[in-house]
Formats: sequence, structure tokens, C-alpha cells
Amino acid sequence: MSTFLFEGIVFGPIKSRRLGISLGINLLPKGNKLCNFNCIYCECGWNKINNKNHFHSRNDVKEALETKLIDLKKQGVSLDTITFSGNGEPTMYPEFAGIIDDTIELRNQHFPDAKVSVLSNGTLVHHEAVFNALKKVGRAILKLDSAIDATVKLMNNPQFDYSVSKVIDRFKAFNGNMVLQTMFLRGNYDGNIIDNTTEHEIRLWLDTVKQINPKEIMIYTIDRETPAKGLEKIPLSELEQIADRARLLGYTVQVSG
Ligand code: SF4
Repeated sequence: MSTFLFEGIVFGPIKSRRLGISLGINLLPKGNKLCNFNCIYCECGWNKINNKNHFHSRNDVKEALETKLIDLKKQGVSLDTITFSGNGEPTMYPEFAGIIDDTIELRNQHFPDAKVSVLSNGTLVHHEAVFNALKKVGRAILKLDSAIDATVKLMNNPQFDYSVSKVIDRFKAFNGNMVLQTMFLRGNYDGNIIDNTTEHEIRLWLDTVKQINPKEIMIYTIDRETPAKGLEKIPLSELEQIADRARLLGYTVQVSG
């Protein structure tokens, strides 16, 4: 098992741990992964740009999605969601808002009951176009792995000046219309001990959850090989204990072990 990159624009449908039957959209061409994080656990591996043509064109994405949706409809396949994920951070796509409009239009035409989901690190929501596009989709699933800047730096490797407090303020602007996703792990990488499951981490994380007040929380742990070695999966029973503490506060929490 190793990290992997998606090759095509549209992939699946796959049975996703978190999302059900999901048709994926990858905005980056073959062999490339682009993100403004470089998470030590990213299933796509470390960031990698092999050519200057960083993204598929909006038109190519629209055509590929339409062709696939027509085909799936003919086959009688059901879909729970169309999901932006793939090789990197989807909101870095220059025409992200436009592509969300295209996707909602095609979804309404071919699979009106399917949701549109975006798996995002949430770092570009201060751009109005990205924020408005994420508000339009049924499920903006935004990442916050720790309430502590130093832990985020170790886990997510932000490629810019990152601040948890700024991110919390930006997530609060969704007025609850977002899903919060948090990866829990432990390990040792590059001489640093990393553990976002300590009592101190969890207490601060729960405080953050209350501030952001998301409509749903997804917590999960490592599922595939990670680019950094020395990381440890958190047992399902422990994830459930963390989830129960958020449930006691009134939140719906989905756990993927
Ligand atoms: S934010 Fe997502 S795509 Fe970006 S490096 Fe982290 S896991 Fe990978």
C-alpha cells in the first residue's frame, strides 16, 4: 500500500468511509498534487508539481462530469454525493466558484438528490468567491486538526503564515452551515512528537468546536499509507470517546476508524 494520486478528472463512484457513494472530482492533471498545506498524513503524498499546467480547464471538468453523470444515470447507479477532493486543495482552483456553479447545475439536471461536497482545508475561505461557493454547496467539509498553532504546523505543514484563531473566525462566518473535519493521530516525525489526542488538545478542540458551532463533525484517523513514516492510527474506541464528548455538547459526530 502506498500514497496515490488520482489520474482522471472524475473518479468513482467509490464507497467513501465518510460520504457514502461518492463520485469524486480531481482538478489537477496526472502526476500533480497541489495544496497550501503539506500534511504529514496526506493520502496523496507530499506536494508535487510536474508541469505548469496546474489545473484541468473548467470546460474539461464540466464535460467530464456531464459525460459521467449521463453514463451513471443510464446504468441506474445511485449517488449520495459529488465530491471535490482529488490531488490537493480544491479551493485553490482559479475558477472554483464557476466550477461549483457548473456542478450544481449538472447535479440538478441528472442527480437532483445527490449532495455536492467539498473536502477542503478551509484556508481560503477569506476569499469572498470561495466563501460564497462553499456556502452554496450542501456540504463544505472544512479541516481543523488542532486548536493549537504548533500542532497544526507539525501535522499540516502550512505553506504560509497560519493562525488557528483567524481560521476559527472565518469558520464562524458560516453560521453553522459547514461540517468540521478533524484527523486524529499520534506519532513521531522529524524529531517531533505529535499527538492531538492528549487531554489538553481535546479540551481546546472542544472549546473550538463550540465557537465554530458546525452542523456536523467528522473525526477520523489514518486509513492508508502516509508520506511521513512513524505515524500511528488512533483506535476506534478512542475516537468514539472523543466523539462522545462532542455529542454531549449536542453535536452530531461521525467517526471513521
Ligand atoms: S489539506 Fe488535504 S490535500 Fe492538502 S495536504 Fe492536507 S490532506 Fe493533503
